[in-house]
Parts: sequence; structure tokens; C-alpha cells
Amino acid sequence: MKKAMFAALAALFALSAPVAAEDHEKPEWSIAIHGGAGTLDPDRMTPERRAAYEAALQEALDAGAKVLAEGGSAMEAVKAAILPMEDSPLFNAGKGAVFTWDGRNELDASIMDGRDRSAGAVTGVTTIRNPILLADTVRTESEHVFLMGEGAEQFAVEQGIETAPPEYFATEARRKSLERMKSEELSALDVDTKFGTVGAVALDQDGNLAAGTSTGGMTGKRWGRIGDTPVIGAGTYADNRSCAVSATGWGEYFIRVGVAMNICLRLAYGQQIVSAGDPEGEKDHSFIAQGIADAVMAEVKQLGGDGGVILVTPEGHAIFSFNTTGMYRGRADSSGMSEVAIFGGDVEAGASNTPDH
Ligand code: ASP
Repeated sequence: MKKAMFAALAALFALSAPVAAEDHEKPEWSIAIHGGAGTLDPDRMTPERRAAYEAALQEALDAGAKVLAEGGSAMEAVKAAILPMEDSPLFNAGKGAVFTWDGRNELDASIMDGRDRSAGAVTGVTTIRNPILLADTVRTESEHVFLMGEGAEQFAVEQGIETAPPEYFATEARRKSLERMKSEELSALDVDTKFGTVGAVALDQDGNLAAGTSTGGMTGKRWGRIGDTPVIGAGTYADNRSCAVSATGWGEYFIRVGVAMNICLRLAYGQQIVSAGDPEGEKDHSFIAQGIADAVMAEVKQLGGDGGVILVTPEGHAIFSFNTTGMYRGRADSSGMSEVAIFGGDVEAGASNTPDH
């Protein structure tokens, strides 16, 4: 009976068959990270480059996992995992961010605490070394959720947030992508084989969830274009009652689908219905989470967008779903599991990959 109800729910909310539940003992803590999704071809990546990405992902994952293993909060773990990726030139966030049409690095970030759904976000900052820290300071030290450009930077200075000169963020590789885009009249998707946005989601030992995301956006963006990353509900969302999500991909589509909140709401609604039908029953319904994430990503694809999401549930399931050929990703939990992966072929249990090219 319960199985039939789950199947019906999965059909209702996920519109696709759920991945079979693994035997899962609830971990005390759990974390997942991403460093962007995209058209990634193993044959076109040198072993050295692959090793560099895997090492950078592992460093970020370990930093977040350490916080959680020591009893720190999901919010602290998310920031700890994102910081090294913002500092690494390999990712499109902080140092190494893509260039705008006008040759600037304009950074976006957001963070959300699943305990109380407090959130902070910044867009279009050019001198903040770690935008994820500024986003969190907006959350804790202002009455606002979302600050932009010069105002956000003025707030940062007042709050003593570390700044860096605009040149700090610039890298040759990203500059070349912009030049190629202009000279060959290409799109951002042609010059960047991947979205290099970074993000993290975590469940801590107190059962709290958090999510954060940071990016330079898309190469050649102009007219003050803002993607999904700093938009709460699109690129980032966390609610202890359902899940924590961080996204990467073609931001316009993620905003239109409201990806992060869409996944959390479907999950919350699904859980409510199951609990209403079976109040004494077990509360671990997270095996429908993969189906829900896949269904929302399918909506993105249907509209013409691509990318991926990471999510973690209150039961500690760390899930990936992406419709590109690869996603830089990693996850770890208190059972001792710790893994990083890049290509779609490396699909692990609890990940789903439906590339469209
Ligand atoms: N989602 C980001 C944006 O559209 C790009 C990315 O994920 O790399 O700005």
C-alpha cells in the first residue's frame, strides 16, 4: 500500500519513475558540492587538467566535511566549501570569473539557511574577494535579502568584508574566451564548454540544511544581465522541511522554472501528502527526491536550457541531476563516503544524467 502511494506520488510530482531507494542509514551529516556543469568530453581533457579539477573539488569537499564532522553548522560548511572554489582560478566564481562584454568580472552569490529561510544575495560586485561571505553578511547584518553593485560594495566596506582590486579576478583563459566570442561571433555556450559556477548544500548534525552558490555569470553578459545564481528560489534554496538546492546552468531557464524552490516545494508537498496518509509511517521519503530533481531539470531542458543541480535532503541523501554531459561534483557524509566526479559516465548511485548533446 505504502509502495503504491509512493509510486503514485512520484508520478504526480516527479512525472517520471523514481530511482529505487537504496538501503540508507541516515548519516549524521552530509554535504554535496558542484563546480559547474557542461559539455564535458573526457577525450578532450588532459590527465593533468582532470587531476587539477579533482584535487580542487576534493579540497572544497574536505573543507565543508571537516566543519560538519566537528559539529559545525550547515551554513558554516557551505561557506567553507565555496571559499576555496572562489579562490581557485579553475572555476567561474571569484578569481577566474568569466568576463562581461565590457571586459569586467561581475560577481553574483547567494546563500540560504534552512532553519529559518533567512537568505542573502549580491549581484554585480567587482571588488569583493569572496562574494559568498558578502551574501551571508547581507543575510545577518542587513534588513535586506538582495543587494547590487556599488551599494553592495559600500555595505561590504562598512562591514569590513575583504576586497580585492578588479584585476585580481581576471585570468588569461577567461579573457581569451571573451575575445573569441567577439571575433568569431560566438555565443557564451560556444566559448565556454561548461558553466563553472560553484555551489554547496549541507545537512549538519543538528538536522539543519543550508545552500549557497557563487558565479561570474556567463561570458559576454551585458546590459546588467543577472542569472539565476543570486536569485533565491532559482539558483539557491534551503528549507529544513524539504531540502537544500544549488544550481548551475543557463541561468535564464533556471529563473523561468524557479528551479531550486520548485524542487523543494514538490518535495515538501509530496512529504505532506504521504505523512497525512500514514502519520505513523517512516518519514524517509527522500527516494522520490531524485525523481523530482530529474523532473524539474527536464522542464529546464524542455524550454531549451541545460545545466544541473545538487541537493541534500533532511535524511542526508546527497543527489545530483544534470542534463549536460558532465558536472564537476562531489559529496561526502558521516559514513566515511567521500567522492568527486566530473563526467556523466562516472554516474554514481544517487545521480542522474540525461545529456541532450
Ligand atoms: N547559472 C549561471 C548564470 O546563468 C552560470 C553558471 O552556472 O555557470 O549566470
